[in-house]
Amino acid sequence: MPTVETILGPVDTAELGRTYMHEHVFVLDADVQQNYPSEWGSEDERVADAVGKLKALAAQGIRSIADPTVIGLGRYIPRIQRIAEQVPELNIIPATGCYTYDQVPFFFYHRDPAVYAALGSDEPEPMVTMFTDDIVNGITGTGVKAAFLKCAIDEKGLTGGVERVMRAVARTHRGTGVPITVHTHPGSETGLVVKQVMCDQEGVDATRVVLGHTGDSSDVDHLSALADQGFILGMDRFGLYVGTTFEARADTVVEMCARGYADRMVLSHDTSCYLDMVDPRIVQLMTTWTYLHIHDAVLPYLREHGVTDDQIDTMLIENPRRYFENVGAY
Ligand SMILES: [Zn+2]
Repeated sequence: MPTVETILGPVDTAELGRTYMHEHVFVLDADVQQNYPSEWGSEDERVADAVGKLKALAAQGIRSIADPTVIGLGRYIPRIQRIAEQVPELNIIPATGCYTYDQVPFFFYHRDPAVYAALGSDEPEPMVTMFTDDIVNGITGTGVKAAFLKCAIDEKGLTGGVERVMRAVARTHRGTGVPITVHTHPGSETGLVVKQVMCDQEGVDATRVVLGHTGDSSDVDHLSALADQGFILGMDRFGLYVGTTFEARADTVVEMCARGYADRMVLSHDTSCYLDMVDPRIVQLMTTWTYLHIHDAVLPYLREHGVTDDQIDTMLIENPRRYFENVGAY
């Protein structure tokens, strides 16, 4: 039986059920939080709040979430273990990788293979070593193994740091077989850069890659072109209606389903129990940006507009399962 690693250990992929493919539990700047913890407040209260929110999600029949919180987003697995143990009815699938729109974190800045090469050493890219260790041996001695890889390319495009992380993720993927999620910025068509660097140059099979945040765009011709390359499209920011609307996001899924691409889309919110990138007073105003919004508002709208229950199952169950089962190294 194929299995996928979760916070509570391996789970049969047939047991994944309805899966949201891009949800965080926490998104934090760990460095700032260590020094200015007053907004975060009580660890126990934050954990209890997360347990409550995730239990409410599981009560809607959602069985799994893929959590692409990696270096740069404050990943801290012991805290997530504490939460997962109290919500065993929800599988939380952890990731490894690095999140930047620009340069690599300073930790890696001078640990560059080019520097090692200048010293006459053929030291491998340290990110590949670290990501692989998270996948093969587990994260920071917790025994929790990462089940997918994450990197990002945003409006700034292929900066030196973005390219270095992207190639490290591609090489770790080729070596371990675990699938990839890339944060993209579809408004500047960065999915095409992913195609060029990861697929054309690093040999990554596009069907193993979720292009996250593709649903930020309503350009269905561009989205169809990406799907035709084999990519899985992340329609994964439902509830976040900044620069777009509920209807724009939902109608894009409707149109892509009508065009026959249900087997190329996954759904999610990209929300979290607490994120420090946005002032909590602003987050509070975004009342739809919760774990419950797809079930409560989006699925009914999709059904009303001609998306079938079979297509919904394809996006929520079959596509995530296929993604986590397609894990051969190559
Ligand atoms: Zn995210």
